[in-house]
Amino acid sequence: MTEFLNFIDGAFVPSERRFDKRTPTSHAVIGTVHEASAAQVDAAVRAARAALDGPWGRMPVAKRVELLHAVADEINRRFDDFLAAELADTGKPRSLASHIDIPRGAANFKVFADIIKNVPTESFEMTTPDGGSAVNYAVRSPVGVVAVVCPWNLPLLLMTWKVGPALACGNTVIVKPSEETPATATLLGEVMNAVGIPPGVYNVVHGFGPQSAGEFLTRHPDIDAITFTGETRTGEAIMAAAAQGVRPVSFELGGKNAGIVFADADFDKAVAGITRSAFENCGQVCLGTERVYVQRPIFEKFVAALKAKAEALKIGPPNEPGVGLGPLISAEHRQKVLSYYRRAVEEGATVVTGGGVPDMPAALAEGHWVQPTIWTGLPESASVIREEIFGPCVHLAPFDTEEEVIALANATRYGLATTVWTENLGRAHRMARAVKVGICWINSWFLRDLRTAFGGSGASGIGREGGVHSLEFYTELRNVCIKL
Ligand code: NAD
Repeated sequence: MTEFLNFIDGAFVPSERRFDKRTPTSHAVIGTVHEASAAQVDAAVRAARAALDGPWGRMPVAKRVELLHAVADEINRRFDDFLAAELADTGKPRSLASHIDIPRGAANFKVFADIIKNVPTESFEMTTPDGGSAVNYAVRSPVGVVAVVCPWNLPLLLMTWKVGPALACGNTVIVKPSEETPATATLLGEVMNAVGIPPGVYNVVHGFGPQSAGEFLTRHPDIDAITFTGETRTGEAIMAAAAQGVRPVSFELGGKNAGIVFADADFDKAVAGITRSAFENCGQVCLGTERVYVQRPIFEKFVAALKAKAEALKIGPPNEPGVGLGPLISAEHRQKVLSYYRRAVEEGATVVTGGGVPDMPAALAEGHWVQPTIWTGLPESASVIREEIFGPCVHLAPFDTEEEVIALANATRYGLATTVWTENLGRAHRMARAVKVGICWINSWFLRDLRTAFGGSGASGIGREGGVHSLEFYTELRNVCIKL
């Protein structure tokens, strides 16, 4: 049984209140999480402020960069520990976490350390009314003490996606991991101490959202900025908290992403791509596609091919060879996903495959398993097509023209990502411009260059992170104007 302690000012700190951590594969309790009190959150904020005003704030950039490289190296050195922690917390397939979650978790520190070392600031010369001149240049300073509030679907990857650039820019952070996935954020505390990151630079407070660590942190008056990934309605609550004191926010929120497959697509690649975008990580990826539009001439063939792929996915625990689909994160989330499975039928869907719970061996019977599910035949007004489900399920609908599918794809308040499959170059460019999203993949999905802008339009988020765009949120630019 693991104890997940808070990490405050370089020390692991227990709390009086505790809650169970259950593993998704069997629902068994595997750990105890120490829920930070308001006083402990306050202690973390004070430690972060002291580090910002002290050793971290005074550290030369070159030294900071060196330390962040050391963090990445230490995560890689302890790769197996991080992998085991992530697998126990999420139940996702080992192949997925070992290729994406952990390596990206480490890379996030190196990429942003290198960016801060290499990106210049602007400078302008000007003439002045007296016939002289002046020179302007910008300096970057950290935004300050940053609250980092994280979801459970890609715990280490999404957390370091924020902590990496925040620390590279010279900020200090307090991380509030999801209550469902406390492990890797806690482990990262050990890494910070091992490589010599000063106490208070990286802090972790465990707990829930409302009336718990999430709210204590985001409402804390000495937090300078809040970066959040999670549900849109949580974003609304955090934005209200951020309004007190006019604190900036960076939000990566929910989605209801469309996949679009044209008849001229490379059929096999499109089927493989949509299989991933619909079912990877058991459908618990913000960028995933829960509604897919397929051009009519290939619609029936596509439905049959995706059905075959879904039915071939091996369901099972992380370490079983060949597993492609793990469990959902929690019993509560499983109830939500299954409620949509029922609702789809009530709303008149044809269930092409799935729609229920798989038979699992006795030891895994209490796990949070659901079948990968494909529907057809629903009207666009159906809740299954409008609302984010966050499960391994997808509705397929036929379309005829480019104009029609653009209108279908854009008929949502969300605007995170899309994946378009076509061999027609002109059409690919036209679609990329017409679909209202932050990220448009053509003939690919979840292919990420960390230097590119990442974020959503509409209800899918505020701001962009990634590459130099992260610097815009995690630093303040000060213009210096010198009369010559
Ligand atoms: P969630 O919003 O329920 O929780 C996210 C975090 O916010 C958790 O740490 C939670 O404890 C905390 N929280 C909840 N209420 C709070 C409050 N009132 N104040 C402060 N903190 C609060 O999201 P989740 O269920 O963990 O994650 C799934 C959601 O995240 C989906 O909607 C998904 O689309 C979204 N997501 C978006 C992206 C993206 O990049 N756009 C990436 C991953 C996940």
